[in-house]
Amino acid sequence: MLRILNSQSRQKEDFKPLDPAGKHVRMYTCGPTVYDSLHIGHARAYIAPDVVRRYLEYKGYQVRHVSNFTDVDDKIIKRAIEERRDWREITSHYIAEAHRLLMHLNVMPADAYPRATDHVVEMQEIVKRLLASKNAYIAKDGDIYFDTTSYARYGALSGRKLEDDEAGASGRVDDARMALKKHPGDFILWKLSKNDRPEIAKGGENVPRWPSPWGDGRPGWHLECSAMSHKYMGVPFDIHCGGQDLLFPHHEDEKAQTECAYCGELKNGESVRYWVHNAFINMKARPEDGAVNADYVDQASGGVKMSKSLGNVKWVREMIWPEGPYDPMAVRMLMLSSHYRSPIVFEPAQLDEATARLERLYNALEALDRASHQSHGKTVTWSSSVTHIVKAEDPAMTTESLPMIKAAFDAKLAFDAAMDDDFNTAGALGALFEMVNRANQILARFAGAKPSPAEGASYGEAARLARQLLGVLGLRAERAQGGGAGAGGGEDKLVELLLKTRGAARTAKQFALGDQVRDGLKALGYEIEDLPGGEAKWKKK
Ligand SMILES: [Zn+2]
Repeated sequence: MLRILNSQSRQKEDFKPLDPAGKHVRMYTCGPTVYDSLHIGHARAYIAPDVVRRYLEYKGYQVRHVSNFTDVDDKIIKRAIEERRDWREITSHYIAEAHRLLMHLNVMPADAYPRATDHVVEMQEIVKRLLASKNAYIAKDGDIYFDTTSYARYGALSGRKLEDDEAGASGRVDDARMALKKHPGDFILWKLSKNDRPEIAKGGENVPRWPSPWGDGRPGWHLECSAMSHKYMGVPFDIHCGGQDLLFPHHEDEKAQTECAYCGELKNGESVRYWVHNAFINMKARPEDGAVNADYVDQASGGVKMSKSLGNVKWVREMIWPEGPYDPMAVRMLMLSSHYRSPIVFEPAQLDEATARLERLYNALEALDRASHQSHGKTVTWSSSVTHIVKAEDPAMTTESLPMIKAAFDAKLAFDAAMDDDFNTAGALGALFEMVNRANQILARFAGAKPSPAEGASYGEAARLARQLLGVLGLRAERAQGGGAGAGGGEDKLVELLLKTRGAARTAKQFALGDQVRDGLKALGYEIEDLPGGEAKWKKK
């Protein structure tokens, strides 16, 4: 049984879809504000929900996944003013780039990627409803606010009390605006263009605005996710994902809006069944960071927060192929090696470690593939127990005679158990690597001996299972070809070097040594052909 740690209850809860038939699952993920390229924190906020979705599909659910882009925001406007570019040009550019990077990171495409600016009418509809239900009010200057004291459940998700909200609310609203609100925690639903602060107002025509019954203006940030989740999935829905930084105020506010505007559509008042938040990625302090301002240090992990002013932002496009040095799967491997709710303190060496772990997986898969060629078309059918499988294959066999099947069976059980425990990807990878270790031991023990057809089938089955489980984690199951440095080219050079060494040994009449190199290469799956003149050519079987 899958259990999910629900941010709202702070407990692991059994997963049961809202769909009475138990088949369909609807999930919504908050996407980035598109005024800059994606950094490693965004990558985590995409990969975590992607694994949730993949595991649900592996378990047989049909998942509808919607993920938005925030394409109207003061940060976008400020950048447009700074760079003298049209704000739409900026958002379109970064949305297109995000799609490209997500493809490289093997993130499954969402069923819809709605943009806030395409849903202003739907957002205004919510404002109308909230005004009618007296959950919202028009302030003296004409801006519209949500009245947090009007909703008794406000704060239930994040665990905050209204009295605590003074600090939380001040980040986005300046003091003059504070004075216009009934309560410090009240948040904006519709802001009038005429009230824009000078640094925004100077953008003139390049500041987005829409007509409304309350005057020209633009929506508050939280409103879009209420509007788009309602439009594309309806409420309530099953799973809401997002980074931990969105828990408050974004998700608390989104929840309040949806639950007040659409209370008639909710059964027990809840708009979302499970709230899933991934933790941050912070940077390991560098010597040049010296005495970093305490505001930049994450107290929980001891890492330094990413910030352009510190120059420590890790951009995805600079890390991965084709622009950067790493296989995108190394980034994914790095993320999956921690539980999504545990903070990661990043340092570049972790990507090298992740690359080495990928290599171990790919090497083992290739070795299993080679060893399975002896199966003569025999296949293994999965069943509920190892003894049963073995008997079905060949009544005379014992579990011990097909150790690879036992290892694969154990790996699948451990993988499922880890993933059922709130998507514990670190545990799931542990199960896969345990199987890889067993495969390497088993193959080494039988090295040189021709496997029986049943043994060959067991290797093939182990490789098939490993590929399936890698797919559940979104890890590509084949070594990438033609990527950046280190893909393919390094292997060729090593084989050439060994063949040269063998040639030199033969010239020196050290034939035993020469044969040892040849046999070793053969065992690794290389076919060596001697050519006249002492040269040799090779190919991989
Ligand atoms: Zn959102």
